[in-house]
Amino acid sequence: MDYQKLADLLLPDIDKTPEYYEEMYPARNLPEGARVTRFAPSPTGYLHIGGLFQAIINQMTAKVSGGSAYLRVEDTDKKREIDDGVSAITNGLATFGVSFKEGVTGFGTEAGDYGPYTQSKRVEIYQTIAKSLILKGLAYPCFCTADELTALREKQEAEGALIRGYFGKYAKCRDLTLEEIEAKIAAGEKWVLRFRSDGSEDKRIFFEDVIRGKIEMPENIIDEVLLKSDGIPTYHFAHTCDDHFMHTTHVIRAEEWISSVPKHIALFKACGFKVPKYAHTPQVMKIDEETGDKRKLSKRKDPEAAVSYFVEEGFPKESLIEYLLTIISSGFEDWRRANPTVPAMDYPFNLKKMSSSGCLFDLVKLTDVSKNVISLMKAQEVYDRVAQWAQAYDTEFYNELSADAQRSVAILNIDRENPKPRKDISKWNEVKDYISYFFDKYYVKDYTLPENISKEDAVAIVNCYAQSFDLNDDKDMWFGRIKDMCEPLGFTPNVKEYKKNPDAYKGHVGDVSTVIRIALTSRRNTPDLYSIMALLGEDEIKARLQDAADSWK
Ligand code: GLU
Repeated sequence: MDYQKLADLLLPDIDKTPEYYEEMYPARNLPEGARVTRFAPSPTGYLHIGGLFQAIINQMTAKVSGGSAYLRVEDTDKKREIDDGVSAITNGLATFGVSFKEGVTGFGTEAGDYGPYTQSKRVEIYQTIAKSLILKGLAYPCFCTADELTALREKQEAEGALIRGYFGKYAKCRDLTLEEIEAKIAAGEKWVLRFRSDGSEDKRIFFEDVIRGKIEMPENIIDEVLLKSDGIPTYHFAHTCDDHFMHTTHVIRAEEWISSVPKHIALFKACGFKVPKYAHTPQVMKIDEETGDKRKLSKRKDPEAAVSYFVEEGFPKESLIEYLLTIISSGFEDWRRANPTVPAMDYPFNLKKMSSSGCLFDLVKLTDVSKNVISLMKAQEVYDRVAQWAQAYDTEFYNELSADAQRSVAILNIDRENPKPRKDISKWNEVKDYISYFFDKYYVKDYTLPENISKEDAVAIVNCYAQSFDLNDDKDMWFGRIKDMCEPLGFTPNVKEYKKNPDAYKGHVGDVSTVIRIALTSRRNTPDLYSIMALLGEDEIKARLQDAADSWK
């Protein structure tokens, strides 16, 4: 076969050589041991939680080694692509503080010396390498139609063939002569370019997965498609060319790609490229509410599969990152305890120690992590973040909150900025309800009493309190006054005493406080009531006490 003639016939416009690109993309100037990683999403218009997970792992792996991580857009599958699916990814990442300095930085923008970083703009590179494979006799055109390929699949199924696909004796177009190929092309038949595999069925390959250790698999024997009939590469071929020319040292990707590794190793070798290290990360899983089984997070069934869900709900970016790190690396929580204020992305991540079984994503645990994260924020920070969230998702609440920003900050400061802050808020969409009793617009009265307190006693308590409270009291005096009210009303200020002798009293000081709390906030449980009262002010306190008493009469 005259391969030069074949190559020129198939790819007449390609006049560059692999050497041209080798020179264009020289080795990176990085210290010994530095890792180059990449996050390579397809622009589906949607950032999956698994994507954010991948992005973080890639960034941290590069960072701890003094290397670099870049973002490559894999848009060769036109069926899956949507208009400007890129912004959804770059904005989604940026919202969580994960941005890539190299690669695609937004819709139509990029940075770095190894671009273009969007696969559809690299077609000439793929075709140049494809042409070099044709010249070496390692790639050939295949004219099989979709119907013929379906027939082949059915035949293999009927025969019970263990390996299925286009290979060996089934590969009809493998040995076409140049004349036959010329005739088909002259007749306008469409072709794809296939890899001519030299693998054999009885050979096995070994590779070392950074996360999973040694893996053994049958060698690839399939004549995989390299270029589709429109000249666009398949994932397999684009991966080979891009990770070579971009000098990726560690290909970190989802575990669904493990089965393709033999194919990829064969392609790297055929192209004369060094095989990168592979690390296949576990899937992000959840426990199915109905079946109780572990399953992959699904875009269709689980709103939390999309990163946008966390933005809309108002989870702070730190909470999600912090939580993802706890499921990515078992050492993270200990490190966090020892380093409570260091940014999460400075965690000394070790890819090798990552668990290879599915990472369980649990919204309840995220909620706990987030409560902790928010409890450590200063009131002004909480205010700023809530206001920003509300501006986007609840403008009415934004208006209420910002009408008197200073008061709102003070409300959010109750039981905060102290050594034991309350951990009540896990996301910004809970704040309106959490502080609703401070706002006329949102305050919903509910004077339901606990069963052990009668309406008569409740009326007596609030009437007495209306006479005695004094906003000039310090906290001890304030509580002293509530204690002093107890005995005349038939309650005891002493909880232990009450427990010893419950029949002697109507209740204890806790019950008296509960009645006051219900009257002032319509809740049985609130942050520090003393601080709440200071913010409500004398007139409002009196009005609420009166209103509650009227309701119980
Ligand atoms: N574009 C591929 C995907 O979205 C990326 C796989 C890889 O990282 O190599 O699944």
